[in-house]
Amino acid sequence: MSEAAPTVVIRGGSVVGTSGTARADVVVADGVVVALGEQLQVPRGAVVLEAGGCLVSPGLVDLHTHLRQPGHEEAETVESGTRAAALGGFSALVAMPNTDPPIDSAAVAEEVLALGKGRPCEVLVAGAITIGRRGEELAPLRELAALGVRLFTDDGSGVQSGAVMRRALEYARGLGVTLAQHCEDADLAAGGAMHDGEWSSRLGLPGIPAAAEEAMMARDLALVRQTGAPMHFLHVSTRGSVALLAAAKAEGLPVTAEVTPHHLALTHAAVCGYDPVFKVNPPLRTAEDTRALARALGQGTIDAIATDHAPHPPEAKDMPFDQAPAGMLGLETALSVSIRALEGVLSPEEVIGRMTAAPASIARVSVADRPAGSAQGGPLVVGAAGHVCVFDPDATWTVDAQRQASRSRNTPFAGTTLRGRVRHTLYAGFPVVIDAESQR
Ligand SMILES: [Zn+2]
Repeated sequence: MSEAAPTVVIRGGSVVGTSGTARADVVVADGVVVALGEQLQVPRGAVVLEAGGCLVSPGLVDLHTHLRQPGHEEAETVESGTRAAALGGFSALVAMPNTDPPIDSAAVAEEVLALGKGRPCEVLVAGAITIGRRGEELAPLRELAALGVRLFTDDGSGVQSGAVMRRALEYARGLGVTLAQHCEDADLAAGGAMHDGEWSSRLGLPGIPAAAEEAMMARDLALVRQTGAPMHFLHVSTRGSVALLAAAKAEGLPVTAEVTPHHLALTHAAVCGYDPVFKVNPPLRTAEDTRALARALGQGTIDAIATDHAPHPPEAKDMPFDQAPAGMLGLETALSVSIRALEGVLSPEEVIGRMTAAPASIARVSVADRPAGSAQGGPLVVGAAGHVCVFDPDATWTVDAQRQASRSRNTPFAGTTLRGRVRHTLYAGFPVVIDAESQR
């Protein structure tokens, strides 16, 4: 995007701010917000985007996206994944390092960062904690940190060795970066295909116990206590994990956590027809778990919503349930699904906060980390970056898996009619989505 950003007027929406929502037009020029106010004059030549009835917020930030490039371009590419992100209202995403080869070297990180230039949202990368994500030898965290990498994870699997995790935490603390853990004890989870409970017994499928997640989280919290290094917990899925996090935060440990829209919206009962689209890791849990996760997000025990967008091409996903790969698409449906799942617990504005300021702070791209004109996550004030999500809470649409921007089709919401849709997205002042249509 080397051309100059146009002047854009977002007209007649309700701007979501830190102290409430107020009716205002927003003018973005040269990539930054230049004016906010009621019924502003439209500058000559400006692009006018109607936002009547819509919530106008900072662009969303996703802490957890699998872009699959390099190595699995049949599932997703940086190009298709960032287009899906923009359609979902995101202006930044963190690309997970479980690519092939994994992002465990400066060369691969540089490759993904280069592929991320000129896209309809910002591409940040997470580095692997260990070489090859094998959980043995530490990746060159310092070299990766020098490229701006602030999050490290072996996501896809947890770091099994407590000794390796302890060493990684000590090293990360010195570098000022954050480790993000996919909590899963591989021995406890071995062979499992869904949550170990009532539905796994009924369906005769091997289970993954809640303890597989909770045991590793408990160990890692002990290591955080010992090392003083910060840690972020990916896709928290059980009420036992929520209890561990609540105690850790009450104690003052430097921990943050995320939950996915699908773990808020769906339960293990969704697996009843053996459709592998509902296979995901961690697995869909019980209704008590989803309620505990929603409450935890409301109370701040869980900080952010993150998609864990995990594309798999139809030929890979179309397998018997126990053999299919785990993962679901998430970017294009995240905001509508989260607002609906959190009704009665969080207002739409509060949900947006969990998808903007909170993840931007965890990814270290917020206004505390960057100049306002290039920061992510808002707030939407004069001088802020022109990253804007315009969401129509009343629009209804039926999810068509064939029409997603993603190269894959594995959305659990195919055929579902959702309420609320991202109408426009601006990235760095460019309207990259207009009326729910990608402009790139
Ligand atoms: Zn994971």
